[in-house]
Amino acid sequence: MKDLPARRLLLVHAHPDDESITNGATMALYAAAGVHVTLVTCTLGEEGEVIPAGLAHLAPDRDDRLGPYRAGELAEAMKELGVTDHRFLGGQGRFRDSGMMGVPQNHREGAFWGTDVDEAAAPLVEIIRSVRPQVLVTYDPRGGYGHPDHIQAHRVAMRAADLAGERAYRRDLGDPHAVAKIYWTRVPRSLAEEGFARLRATAAGDFPGIAGIADIPGVVDDERITAEIDGAAYADRKAAAMRAHATQIAVREPFFALSNDLGQPLFTTECYELAVGVSGAAPGEREHDLFAGITGTTGSTGVAEAAGGSPRSAAGRIPGASAGGVREGVGEISGGAV
Ligand SMILES: [Zn+2]
Repeated sequence: MKDLPARRLLLVHAHPDDESITNGATMALYAAAGVHVTLVTCTLGEEGEVIPAGLAHLAPDRDDRLGPYRAGELAEAMKELGVTDHRFLGGQGRFRDSGMMGVPQNHREGAFWGTDVDEAAAPLVEIIRSVRPQVLVTYDPRGGYGHPDHIQAHRVAMRAADLAGERAYRRDLGDPHAVAKIYWTRVPRSLAEEGFARLRATAAGDFPGIAGIADIPGVVDDERITAEIDGAAYADRKAAAMRAHATQIAVREPFFALSNDLGQPLFTTECYELAVGVSGAAPGEREHDLFAGITGTTGSTGVAEAAGGSPRSAAGRIPGASAGGVREGVGEISGGAV
């Protein structure tokens, strides 16, 4: 792709709605800051449960039309977040939702879970080499909570990032590109606990029940968190994007429920664990910009301005010799010296 903005962020998710629930504020914030945000969704979410009774006929055991319908919901959600580049891995409908772990759909023909990782990675390599993102966001190795499509999305994203930088791999898919930083989406335990405390105190009566921390994907001890994005200014965008996924999510700000009707907090502070690359923050501190430390991608048009000038974003401008080393490596490859 030609003439893309200097900063490019790629997110790899399993189903339509995961991106808005998990990274909606981050996506809106970076899109507003002029970053090229690319969302790759691996399946159409055909096996999801349908919340609105009037749309129950879309379900896989009836009309089996939920997938295309959810593609429409995703398109609406992306409008709310200001994200214009959203794609389905391998094209719409190439890989099918595998359902929850242990169900027969895991082994259905075309199910994402049963697809060879390298086969599924190839179309993602092509996107990485075309968009050339500095930052990739996906799930942790458990897929956050063990859904087979989330685990597979993690495997495919990590494999594709590796292959995209390999000079000998599939040059028909574009010139090699090394992604500088890969983050796994996380929720710090303290944030989850605080959110549930608020939910119990203020809105317990609005939901038939309340979810538990074990229902939240990616919860880890606070010390595992390496980056924290304050998306409060984009809370309304995130909530609107989640509302667009009406077959899957019932939003009652600042809470929401999935098809199980259990209330849970809607987080506008979104947190990450740096899995690959060098932190741009001082030792022991969290980054407040996913592009921190990648030279040439922060500065006057940085997130600090777009987000209203959070002083903590200054962490992104702390120079680090090791980060410079990463940049040079990336520059060499992205500059075509291969
Ligand atoms: Zn999902």
